[in-house]
Amino acid sequence: MAKIIILSIRRDFCKNISFRTNMILIRREICRHKNLSNVRCKTNKEKKTLNEKTFKPIKATQTFYQLGTSSFPAYLSLGEKGMIIEGGTGATFKIIVNQIEELGIDPNRIQFIVLTHTHADHIGAVPRLKSIWPHVKVLASPVAAKTVSKKEMYEDFLCTDQAIAEILKGKGDIATLPPTLQDYSFAVDQVLKDGDTIDLGAGISWTVYHAPGHSPCHIALFEAKEGTLDIGDSTGFYVPEKDVFWPNYFESLEKYCDSIRKLSSIPAQRIVLSHNCVIEGGVKKHFEKALKATQHYHQDLIRRVEAGEDSEAIALEKAQWVSSLTDILPFEAIVSLAKLLIKRSQQEVEKPKLFIFE
Ligand SMILES: [Zn+2]
Repeated sequence: MAKIIILSIRRDFCKNISFRTNMILIRREICRHKNLSNVRCKTNKEKKTLNEKTFKPIKATQTFYQLGTSSFPAYLSLGEKGMIIEGGTGATFKIIVNQIEELGIDPNRIQFIVLTHTHADHIGAVPRLKSIWPHVKVLASPVAAKTVSKKEMYEDFLCTDQAIAEILKGKGDIATLPPTLQDYSFAVDQVLKDGDTIDLGAGISWTVYHAPGHSPCHIALFEAKEGTLDIGDSTGFYVPEKDVFWPNYFESLEKYCDSIRKLSSIPAQRIVLSHNCVIEGGVKKHFEKALKATQHYHQDLIRRVEAGEDSEAIALEKAQWVSSLTDILPFEAIVSLAKLLIKRSQQEVEKPKLFIFE
């Protein structure tokens, strides 16, 4: 079903545009009804209306809310000032705005949108939010600032963003497609360096950690007062209901593993993922499992390539496995991603301590 939808979207929107499939991370809402042993996974409560679902904001802590949908969440941190983490998608923009309104938050209080990274499924709401709330400043890494300054990025971004909207509409998550904008481009207003802090007042201050490997522009953010660590896509695509990871070292295996190790040393109470949910407790364990899963995935690829197995066949098999975890991902996209990971694994000269977790 998802395959048919995405193919028609590609025909309609992407005739002459290279379809950057590795930017499409369309996730099924997989957090529902889950009760994992050491993991408490919070999900958006959905209330069916005539044509679409209503996604309620989820209070994760006294000052931190999960917005958007479970598959494409954004987060709201509240000190004296407010900050949205994640740039959302065009399709979830309206949901996010409605949720903020439902919480009774004055938009003027929201001063920042911070981007974990600039993959297309993490920036789509930004131009729309900027159009209604021009006072809000966009914060991101230096690499992210450079990425969004390139005009050519917007063709691929828009193509993916529209594809996501079509799929969410197909699922009934939204009733109508978001209206088109005159201009989708936006700039990063403030560059975040490793170690920078974003002080929201009332004791809420976020520290920035550069965490490349998933993408070169990726950052994580830690708020020490409540122990909230937003790790974005740093540990890949995690399926809470099965406690399974699909490692996503799309930029570099070494950097990806280094980032996991770096983030695991932060004394967090909960981790916040760019897809699916907030995980309460078991933080160290999450990183340890992510690293182990990466090791297994990488070593299996290398063993099979060295044994003379055809890369295409390996990618196909890996894609089938991923499809068994998340059936909403278009199969072609998964195959492309699987191929990219084989390439990244082959590029890596495995260092002795690459997978050591301390
Ligand atoms: Zn990503």
